[in-house]
Amino acid sequence: MDRQQEFVLRTVEERDIRFIRLWFTDVLGVLKSVAVAPAELESAFTEGIGFDGSSIEGLARVYESDMIAKPDPTTFQILPWRGETHGTARMFCDILTPDGEPSLADTRNVLKRTLARASDMGFTFYTHPEVEFYLFESLRTDGPLQPVDQAGYFDHVARGSAHDFRRAAISMLESMGISVEFSHHEAGPGQNEIDLRYADALTTADNLMTFRTVVKEVALEQGVFASFMPKPLSDEPGSGMHSHLSLFEGDSNAFHEAGTQYELSKTARQFMAGLLHHAAEITAVTNQYVNSYKRLWGGAEAPSFVCWGHNNRSALVRVPMYKPGKDNSSRVEFRAVDSAANPYLAYAVLLAAGLSGIENDMELPDPTEDVVWDLTPSERRALGIRSLPQDLDEAITIMEQSELVAETLGEHVFDYFLKNKKREWDEYRGQVTPFELKRFLPVL
Ligand code: GLN
Ligand code: MG
Ligand code: MG
Ligand code: MG
Repeated sequence: MDRQQEFVLRTVEERDIRFIRLWFTDVLGVLKSVAVAPAELESAFTEGIGFDGSSIEGLARVYESDMIAKPDPTTFQILPWRGETHGTARMFCDILTPDGEPSLADTRNVLKRTLARASDMGFTFYTHPEVEFYLFESLRTDGPLQPVDQAGYFDHVARGSAHDFRRAAISMLESMGISVEFSHHEAGPGQNEIDLRYADALTTADNLMTFRTVVKEVALEQGVFASFMPKPLSDEPGSGMHSHLSLFEGDSNAFHEAGTQYELSKTARQFMAGLLHHAAEITAVTNQYVNSYKRLWGGAEAPSFVCWGHNNRSALVRVPMYKPGKDNSSRVEFRAVDSAANPYLAYAVLLAAGLSGIENDMELPDPTEDVVWDLTPSERRALGIRSLPQDLDEAITIMEQSELVAETLGEHVFDYFLKNKKREWDEYRGQVTPFELKRFLPVL
């Protein structure tokens, strides 16, 4: 037992915790949970808990289905919504093969491997996500969705349910050690945003898994339904997960350099060049559902074109305004990621793309200060501005050719992901939609 593990055992006893949930994530980013009794905890730490990986999306093939979940004691937290007495706690797990090797299907491990590469180059990767989501009166898929309010961007809704909701969700997150920086009503009716304080990318990814659970739990408690679906309403903005990215060398921000344009270092410029260079290849990962592309191509400040700009909200990569004296806050914002991405995989491919820019000494193109949606296709062509993939089909076709994504995800996750997404596309394109019936049946 190390000290962290002992701390967990002691806390479980002192706080009368009766259930310890072991959490991990499948390849698509869905949270999985198995509860163990306190008496099992010691062996969970030493040997891990066995489970059937073949029943979980992408985790194992049937003939090698035995998997082991080993809890990471540094992620121990009591779940506030389960009450004080006979409480419940959780830890995130690493997935191991029966011989104790990290599982190649574990997306948490995909991120860890990529972070280790960054660390070999002297860097720690920090991220800070702005998570958007909708609140609806209830879950329904058979009729019009009812957002909980008709408010808009930054609106203060007196006695609004969104208000109470954010307050309850944020208190819960804070009590679990997850710091929230900002929260506000977003542009769509019932749409909200909560921004997490920056942390190293593994912590952020774990925090996002917790965040989604907390938001869903609080919504249920308040009798509403929360959704991270990228574009639930055709005529309203989608839900993005803009991610602010930076590399640190020790305590100092490797993206900051005084006296340069936007106070950005050469490292930051190369990182951005890498993001832009690989943007199309990684889109299937950052935007993994057929629905994701309705957001990317539906306007409302979601990016559709590969370019960067200073404070340009139509650009894929935005350099936020530098605040004098706040050198550590120099960062770049990547705006394509949506709220339904697997955060482990999304941060792994973003980091890999940025590092490739540094390793290959990539040159950053000129910034675009125009609103790119307003340019004509030929104006964009003249400026060398390419499009993001138009739909999931195009995204997976491009990803399939990507050495960077194959290397980063590893063969198992790469193959599984593509197979899963091709199936999704095939099922989707076979559907006769209400749009087609309405448009064509009366006249054809
Ligand atoms: N909802 C927009 C998106 O999908 C972002 C809006 C904003 O935060 N300015 O990216
Ligand atoms: Mg925001
Ligand atoms: Mg926003
Ligand atoms: Mg933003």
